[in-house]
Amino acid sequence: ALKAGIVGLPNVGKSTLFNAITQAGAESANYPFCTIDPNVGVVEVPDERLDKLTELVVPNRTVPTAFEFVDIAGLVRGASKGEGLGNKFLAHIREVDAIVHVVRCFEDENITHVEGKINPISDIQTINLELILADLDSVEKKIDRSRKNMKGGNKQSAMEVEVLERVKEALYNDQPARSLDLTEDEKAIVRDLHLLTLKPVLYAANVSEDGVTDAENNPFVQQVREFAAAENAEVVPISAKVEAEIAELEGEDKAMFLEELGLESSGLDRLITAAYRLLGLYTYFTAGVQEVRAWTIRKGTKAPGAAGVIHTDFERGFIRAEVVSFNDLAAAGTMNVAKERGQVRLEGKDYVVQDGDVMHFRFNV
Ligand code: GDP
Repeated sequence: ALKAGIVGLPNVGKSTLFNAITQAGAESANYPFCTIDPNVGVVEVPDERLDKLTELVVPNRTVPTAFEFVDIAGLVRGASKGEGLGNKFLAHIREVDAIVHVVRCFEDENITHVEGKINPISDIQTINLELILADLDSVEKKIDRSRKNMKGGNKQSAMEVEVLERVKEALYNDQPARSLDLTEDEKAIVRDLHLLTLKPVLYAANVSEDGVTDAENNPFVQQVREFAAAENAEVVPISAKVEAEIAELEGEDKAMFLEELGLESSGLDRLITAAYRLLGLYTYFTAGVQEVRAWTIRKGTKAPGAAGVIHTDFERGFIRAEVVSFNDLAAAGTMNVAKERGQVRLEGKDYVVQDGDVMHFRFNV
């Protein structure tokens, strides 16, 4: 399963946010692929399309898709040199597919800031520097190895060195590896290094509970926005403390509390949606009277692979898929009308599944 890792300096609100995530979190019974680990929280992905399908089909149950958040505590200045949890911490980041970087944008005299004062940009740079230094270490080691292999006239190694030198150059200039926009072939060359600064990132700007409705006017948030824009990264303002309170409520109580705060949706829902996008994931649906359900695939997955997310037998015995796009089905109102309109296609094993496809698989057992 894909994972997003929560990182940030100490005392910025990571645990508070993570606790809100696990409070609001899903029963992992529905998600057998999910890890059982105190540092991992399963979240369901809010999706209006799933609500609409539920309205149309009226199934016995509806199951959203889910992914995992990992709490990665312990990053401090000097981690790449082994300070704090150091390398152990960095190893945890290597395992995640995207990074949610929590930045402190709230003031509170009672809560010490590790660097003495609130300065979100300097905080971001402190963390980024540790990631860059760790990557530099991996890249330099790999360059040495590739250079040795190059001596035998190995063309692959020569190409590796060329790409790695560019990555090294970027890192030396304080730029993350993702800023290079590597091609797929180039990414393949660096893949086994699991570079930390190649992972997509979004910033969660943790604002104080009383500033939550006015977060865009918070000067700290504005600074983070400016910084993130230069990296093409998204910013989600959130109040970890408020989210922790919201997570304890359900249904009407939750709606009332949000209304009191003047919020349309919980920050957590926005964060989950943004992290899901960041992971580069697509959702397809199955819609039967028993169950309407959302499933997660990576972009570019073909029909048999998508079927395999439900069950490996579906992939092995895949014959064809009946496919209709969510928009067509929603406009038609029923599967039969969509069929009459010629919007339900039969697709074979080379079909690349699109975000929002409603699929029905035919397979041999
Ligand atoms: P971590 O070290 O990054 O995991 O930070 P914690 O989640 O443990 O938070 C550190 C302290 O800041 C705790 O006492 C939290 O209650 C407090 N805190 C977190 N978010 C907020 C916030 O939005 N406003 C205020 N006033 N305090 C917060």
